[in-house]
Order: sequence, then C-alpha cells, then structure tokens
Amino acid sequence: MQRGLFMKTCRCVSNRFLTSVVVSILISGCAKQPPFPRTRDEIIQESLSLPALYLTEKTRQRVVAPESEGVLIVDKKSGEIAWRALVCTAPDCPGKGPKGEPHICSENDLSYFVKTDGSLGYDPKRMPLDPTKIGMCQKCNSVRNPATETEQKRQQYTQWVQNYVLPESIIRKKQLEEELKRRVQYERQHRILRPDSQQKMVIPQP
Ligand SMILES: [Zn+2]
Repeated sequence: MQRGLFMKTCRCVSNRFLTSVVVSILISGCAKQPPFPRTRDEIIQESLSLPALYLTEKTRQRVVAPESEGVLIVDKKSGEIAWRALVCTAPDCPGKGPKGEPHICSENDLSYFVKTDGSLGYDPKRMPLDPTKIGMCQKCNSVRNPATETEQKRQQYTQWVQNYVLPESIIRKKQLEEELKRRVQYERQHRILRPDSQQKMVIPQP
C-alpha cells in the first residue's frame, strides 16, 4: 500500500511538473508573438479621434480636442467657441512665417454662439455680411482681387486651405495606417471574412 501511495504521489508530482512545463512553454511562446491585432473598427475609431487643434474665436487661444468633435467646440476654459484650425499653403500667402511656415487660421461662423447655459446656439442673423470675404484665409484675402482673378486661381486658393493636422497626429496616423495593413494581412492569413462580404465569418481557433 505504501508503495502504491508512493507511486501515486510520484505520478501526481510528475503530472504537475509536466503541466507547469507546458504552461511555461505556452506563455514564453505567446510572449514572443506580436501583439494580437486590433479590429479594423478599433483602429479606424482611434484614427477619427486623434488630437486636433482648435482656435478660440476671440482670444485665439490654442485648444486641443479630439478630431471627432467636429469643426467647432465650446472651450470650457475660456467659455468661447473654438474653431478647427486651418492651414493656408498658398505660395504667396502674406501670413507665412519668417522661415516660410504656413499660416494657421480658422474660418469663424459668427452665426454660432454660446448660450448662457454653456451650450451651443445658432442664429444666422448674428453673422454680418462681409463683402471683403473672398476665401478662408484672411491674409490671402488682403492681397486677392476677385475682379481680375481667374476661376482656376480661385479654385487653387480654396484647395490651398486645408485642415491643420498636429505633428503628433501625423505620426500616429501613419502608425495606424500600418496597423490597419497588418490587420488586413492577419484577416487574410486567418481567413476572417468581413461581415459585409455576405459569406460565413470564420473565427480563428486558439
Ligand atoms: Zn493664406
């Protein structure tokens, strides 16, 4: 009986040892694997919520908020409306910095205002007609002459003004594009079909 008990104990210890070895191998194997790729939706969601620059309407303070907030936000700190920052890349823009830095501006629509309760209000009568307004960049407007400007030039000025993107968001966006490529590759390797492909979705077995 004692011998039997001894053998049982040995088998038990041996099984535990083997289990721990297998678990250790699995853990170390997993640790060497690249991180499990996030889903396309998760990557795209982060891409749409990257930090963006806003400029307050009156005092021109810089406010950083998620891009998903849209073109305007109410800045809680100053109580002002802040508009999504734009950048003018027109080659002859008078707003260029001393080293050629492009002019950062915003297009404010004064129809929007902050109500006494802090929420956003809209009244088109608040926006006065401005006959000098030509394009989105006020600096360029000061040197443009609509009477002599060609339609092609007018379109160019429109295209030269774009959303300003923060340097850190440019870097992160590139990383997310790479991550999305890896995700697509992962889906192909594991034969994961998109739900909208009208085919049965295959979930990879662990
Ligand atoms: Zn300009």
